[in-house]
Amino acid sequence: TQQLVWPMAQFGQIINMYQRAEASAERIFGLMDETDALEDDTGSDDLVVDDGQVAYDDVRFSYSEEPVLDDISFSVDGGDTLALVGPTGAGKSTVLKLLLRLYDPDSGAIRIDGQEIQSVSRTSLRQAIGYVGQESYLFYGTVRDNIAYGSFEATDAEIQAAAEAAEAHNFIQNLHDGYETMVGERGVKLSGGQRQRIAIARAILEDPDLLVLDEATSDVDTETEMLIQRSLDNLTTDRTTFAIAHRLSTIKDADQIVVLEDGRIVERGSHEELLRADGLYAHLWGVQAGEIDSLPQEFIDRAAR
Ligand code: ADP
Repeated sequence: TQQLVWPMAQFGQIINMYQRAEASAERIFGLMDETDALEDDTGSDDLVVDDGQVAYDDVRFSYSEEPVLDDISFSVDGGDTLALVGPTGAGKSTVLKLLLRLYDPDSGAIRIDGQEIQSVSRTSLRQAIGYVGQESYLFYGTVRDNIAYGSFEATDAEIQAAAEAAEAHNFIQNLHDGYETMVGERGVKLSGGQRQRIAIARAILEDPDLLVLDEATSDVDTETEMLIQRSLDNLTTDRTTFAIAHRLSTIKDADQIVVLEDGRIVERGSHEELLRADGLYAHLWGVQAGEIDSLPQEFIDRAAR
């Protein structure tokens, strides 16, 4: 397992260098609270998620004059994972902001199970989409309440099952008051890896149809890394997932990897297909695998533009 884990950390670092200042979805959700510009049309129906298939159809978008997304088209089958990869500023977060309807496309459409998201209520849209981000936020309260956050009717058994699936149950049991231990500000200080697994337990309990994952490149030891990865696997199985990818394992196993550069899709495919394509993704991979010493200058120049 050492061999498996080591390159994950390496790749995380490279990707992190490459897309520093990654927009965390906390920011996305922070924005969501602030942005009420897009009101529901009166009488809009609620989103009904069946398979959880998501399709972007020739989506174009700009915040101001500068086009930020151009001709974005892809489709994710229900339950699949799509990873977004690319340099900072390429438009990865914007792709997800449009899914959450923080903004509407200038043209094109986004559909979930055939329903254009602009035609459904934003409340139902938000309820369908769960989120696990880089900075896992815990409020001052018990571990139990932090996991049950948003799932008011959860039983203790359900909370424990979620914690188990999130690989968090063992460390929680070792806290002095177990699930009743106070955490967050003024509470017991948990490590980044522990906070993340509580956030994952929370998402498992919420059981959303779709998931937005903005993975951390946290400095965790390899064992914690493995636990987090296992818990993420439990979370994303059979759930349509969009991942802004930092971690090799997620990228590698994603059903589809979309490589963005300058608001356009420059490569797409599975890990194997992208390696064969020998483009940006393959070179990032080559660097982390130690096959080449550094990213060829052309990619660095392009990223720096
Ligand atoms: P990524 O997630 O790949 O780093 P973003 O989607 O955050 O890329 O950004 C894409 C482009 O849009 C960048 O040029 C960024 O500066 C710009 N941008 C992002 N958010 C805003 C905003 N709220 N207002 C104006 N421009 C923005």
